[in-house]
Amino acid sequence: MNQKILVNQIIPFSNVDGEGNRCSIFVQGCQLNCLYCHNSETIQICRHCGICVEHCPSKALSIHSGLVVYDESQCTQCDRCIVVCPYQSTPKTNAFTKDDLMAKIVSYRPYIRGVTFSGGEPTLYADFLTELAQKIKKLGLTVYIDSNGFFDFDAIFPLINAVDGFLLDIKAVDSIEHLCGVKDQTHLKNLERLLEIDKVIEVRTVLLNKHMDQINTLNQVADRLEVYPQVPYRLIRAHITGLKKEQEALVGEAIMTVKEFLAYGNHLRQKGFHNFILQK
Ligand code: SF4
Ligand code: SF4
Repeated sequence: MNQKILVNQIIPFSNVDGEGNRCSIFVQGCQLNCLYCHNSETIQICRHCGICVEHCPSKALSIHSGLVVYDESQCTQCDRCIVVCPYQSTPKTNAFTKDDLMAKIVSYRPYIRGVTFSGGEPTLYADFLTELAQKIKKLGLTVYIDSNGFFDFDAIFPLINAVDGFLLDIKAVDSIEHLCGVKDQTHLKNLERLLEIDKVIEVRTVLLNKHMDQINTLNQVADRLEVYPQVPYRLIRAHITGLKKEQEALVGEAIMTVKEFLAYGNHLRQKGFHNFILQK
């Protein structure tokens, strides 16, 4: 079957998306809407409203049969289209079949240790990625999923089974609805279930002031990771760089100083938890 998924970006060689040099594939589409999302243009699928077309200075965008068409060869990556899009989307996506993606991965294979699917939220494409992950594994590469943690564990179990593990976000606990627009604690449950079957590579929390319960979030994660010394907890300081103007207005004041951020590392140490990484 020639099913396709929308891909926002492929980074052939990345060393920030899990262990070793990895190909990172960013899918388009996410069910969350986090205040500090640094690639919020990946949240929605393009509605083909056409608003961005006339703003493109390079004629890389056009409309054909009511659909916005992106010509990558003309694009100068000025990102005007992303700035003017009112729907948290981008016209700069490409649709790929599994065979298309495999052809790219095979060409990078001599230089990479694995592939990481990021986004957007990769688990939204669980069926597609399950089959792809099985093919990638046959090349001797590892496969990671970078996920927001909000997925139906049982429904996507074939994907969980097919991959080596998850880079899992725990964005917050008590204030998750305010921060990301979801009400439940599925992410914590999923963390527990993934830990039980040794499918967590790393847990990540982005820290900022005001909008989240920092201490409770850190405690909840550290308590769960305590008996899994192979799984590090990465704390990431939220940054202004990369935020859209409206996001900056919402969270700009809440960006922590380095000193404030480091204090959360001290909190974990005092608690007796040392397996963490501070990303300033
Ligand atoms: S980034 Fe968008 S607006 Fe800029 S040249 Fe490319 S398609 Fe056009
Ligand atoms: S990227 Fe945004 S502005 Fe451009 S066509 Fe799609 S929805 Fe409309």
